[in-house]
Amino acid sequence: MYAFTDLAIATYCPRKLYYTWADGDRTPPEAVTAIRNLAFRYEELLEPTTDLSSVPIAVTPTQYRSNLGSAKARLDRWSELVDPADVRAYLAGKDTNGIAHKCLANPPAPVIISAGEPPKEGVWKPQSVRATAAAKALAWERQAPVEWMYVEYPAYGIIRKLRVTTRRKAAYRSAFRAVESLDGPPPRIKNKSRCQPCDYRETCGITTRSLRSRLSL
Ligand code: SF4
Repeated sequence: MYAFTDLAIATYCPRKLYYTWADGDRTPPEAVTAIRNLAFRYEELLEPTTDLSSVPIAVTPTQYRSNLGSAKARLDRWSELVDPADVRAYLAGKDTNGIAHKCLANPPAPVIISAGEPPKEGVWKPQSVRATAAAKALAWERQAPVEWMYVEYPAYGIIRKLRVTTRRKAAYRSAFRAVESLDGPPPRIKNKSRCQPCDYRETCGITTRSLRSRLSL
């Protein structure tokens, strides 16, 4: 049984998953937890009387309320997203397990909360794979189809609703195979833009441009 996050990390970089397993510590940093906690305070954060200068948002207060306000107007299950049936729910599916940060009840839908920045449209592929893993586990537990899932970016006030498509399930299966076949350090990825924010740059032997310039190489 693999973790939802194993599949997400393998989608980002299989070598990063190898280092994560070797490291053993999966506790999210405090800053990540602080941002995720915002996803449980949306109505309060929308109130004009709430001081947003002391909360970890990544855009201006005006932009933040505008983003959240449009999510509230657009999403048909807003009231469940702000007051979900289940929070930080452990889900165990046939092949993977992990935490859905929120679960909506009827019809069942999982929510994954990202502390990062959203893409212009949709969600990043590792988050799509993680949400799909949560959706499959939820469907397995409830013995009911799960057709929709959500990824929230609370530092930006952005919420994305996703359908569980054939393409997303194929990406999930591909990630699962990558995790299953991991028995030594895989090659470094070619997309070096992913290495810049990676915690394992030094272990991996990646010298980023900024480090190279600091070393005058
Ligand atoms: S530094 Fe790059 S290649 Fe190495 S583990 Fe991180 S993302 Fe993968």
